[in-house]
Amino acid sequence: MIPYGRQAIDAEDVEAVIATLTSDFLTQGPQVPGFERAVCEATGAGHAVAVNSATSALHIACLALGVGPGDLVWTSPISFAASANCARYCGADVDFVDIDRESFNMSPAALEEKLEAAARIGRLPKLVIPVHLCGLPCEMEAIAALAKRYGFKILEDASHAIGARYRDMPVGACAHSDIAVFSFHPVKIVTTGEGGVAATKDPELARRMGLLRSHGITRDPAEMEGELDGPWYYEQVALGLNYRMTEIQAALGLSQMRRLDQFVARRNALAERYDERLSGLPLDLPERPAGVRSSFHLYVVRLRGESVRDFHRQVFEALRERGIGVNLHYIPIYRHPYYRDLGFRPGHCPEAERYYERAISIPLYHGMTEDQQDRVVTALGEVLS
Ligand SMILES: *Cc1c(COP(=O)(O)O)cnc(C)c1O
Repeated sequence: MIPYGRQAIDAEDVEAVIATLTSDFLTQGPQVPGFERAVCEATGAGHAVAVNSATSALHIACLALGVGPGDLVWTSPISFAASANCARYCGADVDFVDIDRESFNMSPAALEEKLEAAARIGRLPKLVIPVHLCGLPCEMEAIAALAKRYGFKILEDASHAIGARYRDMPVGACAHSDIAVFSFHPVKIVTTGEGGVAATKDPELARRMGLLRSHGITRDPAEMEGELDGPWYYEQVALGLNYRMTEIQAALGLSQMRRLDQFVARRNALAERYDERLSGLPLDLPERPAGVRSSFHLYVVRLRGESVRDFHRQVFEALRERGIGVNLHYIPIYRHPYYRDLGFRPGHCPEAERYYERAISIPLYHGMTEDQQDRVVTALGEVLS
């Protein structure tokens, strides 16, 4: 089976992990700050807080932004469930803004319409979480203009988008947001095994997230409320968690970050090759808007025509039978039983439903050979004819 994604580990990565295993620190040593600096350098983030997953990063980002019970958080329905779950962890209510048909990202027009309606009933979101699906940056200028008008914060779920660029700025610089979160799960562009980073340009948000990742405990006298009782003294000043990344993970991440440009360039080259080779098939291919560079975490094709639900399933099964590890990113979040129990119904976002009926993620990863890619193209051609 040609998988839809997989990690790219080289001998240097292996060396880095082994060196850390035999060093003095397996946690809370020099590798995590080194990895955080590498993420800052690559993304232009002022501050980076590394944690054990992007899910954890989304959680502490919501907490640092003051999301709590009674608040409302909006995100995109076409995303991994974690984009919405982070608000639920904080006791907030969630709703979904429909996607744009061509980019699959949160539609600024749908957002504006929903905000107008929300303003009329006095129930505006405190936070909006746009998701850079497949690595294609959202229309952040339009979303940021609405944030100014309606007074909400912006948390970018950039789990797919390390190495992507929006109008000549790397994603993570937070030019149009408060915080951006990256994932380092093995299917993503750079991996730490499991891991996440919350990036921000705001030192106060970085300080709060740093506290929350490690029990809310500080050893910095400047952050304490009491006097130093002695050299052993530390204080817990907030209810934090243990979301720390290990040194082993950070060593792998630091080694991997050296190849970020290579990873993104290879993914873009493979995506261009797909663009060419699939152009004759009855498929809609990913949009290539001007002024942005996708990191191409995923390459999603869509079936054409109306009422393709049954055909979609047949195409999926036929490709899997031919050893092509296709996948679907994602089931609209509100369709999951957990969200149905909160009152959501299928059909909540019409464009998300339309996408769900016809989208197919086809294999794309750093180590994919042109031969493997040609097998995917041939299989698609056979199945669609
Ligand atoms: C992978 C992913 C996450 C969660 O990342 P983890 O590091 O696995 O917790 C969140 N949001 C999106 C869009 C993702 O793809």
